[in-house]
Amino acid sequence: MATRAQIYREILREYDALRTRKAAELRERKESLYERFPRLAEIEEELSLLGISAARTALGSPEGIERAVQELKGRQHKLAAERLEIFEAAGISPRVLEMEYDCEKCHDTGYIEESPCVCLKRRVMDRLYDQSNVRDVIRLENFDTFDLRLFSGEAVPEEGASPKENAQRNLKTAMAFAEDFTGGNLLLYGGTGRGKTFLCNCIAKDVLERGKNVLYLTAGQMFKQLEEMRFGQSEDEERTEWDEELLDVDLLIIDDLGTEFSTVFTASELFRIINDRKLRKKPVVISTNLEIPALMDQYSDRVMSRLIGEYTVMKFFGEDMRMKKKYQK
Ligand SMILES: [Zn+2]
Repeated sequence: MATRAQIYREILREYDALRTRKAAELRERKESLYERFPRLAEIEEELSLLGISAARTALGSPEGIERAVQELKGRQHKLAAERLEIFEAAGISPRVLEMEYDCEKCHDTGYIEESPCVCLKRRVMDRLYDQSNVRDVIRLENFDTFDLRLFSGEAVPEEGASPKENAQRNLKTAMAFAEDFTGGNLLLYGGTGRGKTFLCNCIAKDVLERGKNVLYLTAGQMFKQLEEMRFGQSEDEERTEWDEELLDVDLLIIDDLGTEFSTVFTASELFRIINDRKLRKKPVVISTNLEIPALMDQYSDRVMSRLIGEYTVMKFFGEDMRMKKKYQK
């Protein structure tokens, strides 16, 4: 998983490679053109020599300089006109001798003076989409495709509502969360296939489209990475960057909490992440298949008091939608 700093470095290397390729293409274009029209090569040579001879003359008297400049300009004009004639006669645009850029605004550097160009922002955005791990899935799973008809309208007495009413409520909460996005947190819980992951994907897409960055990890992936960072061979810099990403990304979605093998390490890391992000006012969405008491067993009281006290808890119940869809096909 690349951090934001790594993404930037990678993209700037791509710009470098792009400019190198464009320069090579220009050289090739010139070479083949000069082969067809040797006079064009001579003109280019003469033009570059003119500059040198002008500099030499300029060492003379003031009147001499003035005259030399006039002569130089005249000669340059003549050569340029001759070149244009050759191009026109051959029906070729003089632009073949110019550098081509993918982005005319920043000349493929990614920056216009100090500020990032639109093309750089787009590349970063693109990478963040990839990075969020949800690029493909959110095409299918988003607020537009959330289908309330899949949920049963039959009331579940012990829940005091039907799965459809419940899903409607959860959908509303999720939409409000994505729109408002001012530091609230969500805890989604309920059995497998009740729509939690689907709703997480909806939130991810909506938030990404608002130009925020999202990191979507299963708890298993997240703890594995943290363990590698802590106990593996990774460099300090890499570790700090990854940590910063986890703590500072606009929205962190931790899917499937509770399925990982939990240890003292995972419990304390979870607390650290939740706590640190809370201090930074950065939202977290957590989904879990476990009921609250089972989560309490697995994690420390301090984790759970945070989760229950400061997260909007959303329950998911009803039929297993994955099974339902499978058998409907
Ligand atoms: Zn640009």
